Amino acid sequence: MARAAVSGRLAWRVARLAGTNEETGTARTLVFDVPDWPGHLAGQHVDVRLTAEDGYTAQRSYSLSAPGRVELTVQRIPDGEVSPYLTDVIRVGDPVEIRGPVGGWFVWRPDSGRDVLLVAGGSGIAPLMAMIRARRLAGSGARFWLVYSTRTPDDVYYADELRRSDPGLDVTHVYTRLAPEGWPRPPGRLAPADFEDGPADCDCFICGPTGFVESAADLLLARGHDPRRIKTERFG
Ligand SMILES: Cc1cc2nc3c(=O)[nH]c(=O)nc-3n(C[C@H](O)[C@H](O)[C@H](O)COP(=O)(O)OP(=O)(O)OC[C@H]3O[C@@H](n4cnc5c(N)ncnc54)[C@H](O)[C@@H]3O)c2cc1C
Repeated sequence: MARAAVSGRLAWRVARLAGTNEETGTARTLVFDVPDWPGHLAGQHVDVRLTAEDGYTAQRSYSLSAPGRVELTVQRIPDGEVSPYLTDVIRVGDPVEIRGPVGGWFVWRPDSGRDVLLVAGGSGIAPLMAMIRARRLAGSGARFWLVYSTRTPDDVYYADELRRSDPGLDVTHVYTRLAPEGWPRPPGRLAPADFEDGPADCDCFICGPTGFVESAADLLLARGHDPRRIKTERFG
């Protein structure tokens, strides 16, 4: 039984693009129809494989950004091999291959009951958004704090959804280059003060580029968070 479940996760499945949503000028959410998808936990990711007409293949990992369906949010990396295809070229109905779900460590389970601090840098919001959505879907009483760092307000993914009221969820935006007019915090990298109002006794999930994850983890450790309760995911 366990072996069948594992080999199912390792099998490549043909996924067809069912819909898209432009999150920012450089990022797009893609929803795929995947026959026989086994389901996933918030925080897990998939491998996506593209195959060119000459047989050349390229494979990258993308976090699942919602519970219950295969939804990915991809940031276009200039000169990247895979991400520009997913943000600019693929059309509804086109296939890709998908394998997963992958990862059992960087996951949030609705039955955990504990408070949670989420720290996102850029596209690192994707798996954390899956956790926020899973919490809402489950009607969980766990309190969530999200600290979300982007360069500018135009770089915020899921902006409308994060603005909507979600009792028990607190969202703090940190802008590193440009903040809205009158914003109380001057633009700059994450700093200890950004966590002042957050919880101390909680599970922590940090996701983003490697440098961001390392400096955010250092800040949480300096604040006294238990290292065993800090989970990180690096996008490279
Ligand atoms: C577990 C996991 C989950 C991930 N989830 C997501 C996700 O949800 N959304 C998402 O957009 N990406 C995610 N990534 C990153 C993704 O796998 C690719 O690395 C990214 O899309 C770039 O691929 P590419 O083929 O376009 O660029 P490549 O051809 O691989 O690289 C082109 C150039 O861009 C640089 N580069 C590669 N990745 C990044 C990056 N993330 N930021 C800045 N520069 C980079 C490379 O060093 C290289 O110089 C995830 C990575 C991991 C390991």
